[in-house]
Amino acid sequence: MSRSDPTTLAETWRAARPAPAGVHVDSAACSRQSFATIDACAQHARHEAEVGGYVAAEAAAPVLDAGRAAVRALTGMPDAGVTFTTGSNHALDILLGDWTGERTVACLPGEFGPNLAIMARHGFDIRVLPVDEYGRLDVNAIGAALAHRPPALVHFTVLGSHSGVVQPVHDMALACRGHDIPLFVDAAQGFAHVDVANTGADAVYSSSRKWTAGPRGVGVLVTRAGVLSDATRERIGHVETNVGLHVGFSVALGEHMAVGPAAMQARLREVGAATRTALADVPGWRVREHHDEPSAITTLYPPPGVDPQVVRARLIDEHAIVTTYLGVERAPRELTRPALRVSPHVDVTDADLAAVAEALSAVTPG
Ligand SMILES: *Cc1c(COP(=O)(O)O)cnc(C)c1O
Repeated sequence: MSRSDPTTLAETWRAARPAPAGVHVDSAACSRQSFATIDACAQHARHEAEVGGYVAAEAAAPVLDAGRAAVRALTGMPDAGVTFTTGSNHALDILLGDWTGERTVACLPGEFGPNLAIMARHGFDIRVLPVDEYGRLDVNAIGAALAHRPPALVHFTVLGSHSGVVQPVHDMALACRGHDIPLFVDAAQGFAHVDVANTGADAVYSSSRKWTAGPRGVGVLVTRAGVLSDATRERIGHVETNVGLHVGFSVALGEHMAVGPAAMQARLREVGAATRTALADVPGWRVREHHDEPSAITTLYPPPGVDPQVVRARLIDEHAIVTTYLGVERAPRELTRPALRVSPHVDVTDADLAAVAEALSAVTPG
């Protein structure tokens, strides 16, 4: 099948954006934007120059409303407030800055390092939720844990930055509801990737540039009525923002909805399994996830003495392959040594994955 005549989801997705310079398997860090998204951002900037930034913003309102509607649909929160942010960390900072209750929060041991720093900065005492040997929430132990020592708040990262293990957010929400504990969900990696609809969370937030493949420097915060104070909503509604990026994000959301969330999720599960199959036998490296873990993130632990930061750099320099280096600061309470992350989007081919496996072997000393 030629690139000019795409028929599958993968081919359509690839044909819709600039050709990659090599192999891009780094979507968990930053996906590749589509032509439509890139053009929408540029066109908005041009419109600002023509009619004035504030007039252009008014003209863009329906596009932004469509973006917010897509976010409500994807989270299954039809009545929620949707605010564009500069990213996921910004959203958490808004949520915790607005919090007036007791400052105790429970989260997974694999919690994202920068999130832990934000919690600490806001004076939160951090407690750890029970997990199994994969770092996955122990759904049999969660009820007793919450009953024994209820935190004021649960912060739950549905899919981490340091592993492809998908966390059972619906079970977590059920337990929170049972104990009347508010639940905030970090869907930086989960949104537009795994099912985060109808979780029952009080707030959900994500980033544009990851699995939605929108522009960098944008994110979204979704909150049920009453979660944010009027003062905070007023404040964040009036800060200066890059409207063009919100337009681009909204276009990327529209493209995601056009394919359909279920089809995207299914294809990303397939991509994760194919990646783990391709990389399972690279000498010395160990895949962390189960083969069928339902995400497109694969984590590789290096052989002894091999530095994944050097490997990442060599993969780019010598093979034009983009992966992620995972330092332990990503999940300081769980990661004991650095790793390499491979996170293709829906368009990855078997040839791409074979090239990654071969290059990884080639740059691994010994
Ligand atoms: C990337 C990431 C964040 C931070 O997102 P930003 O948009 O960079 O602020 C938070 N949580 C997780 C799990 C992430 O992967």
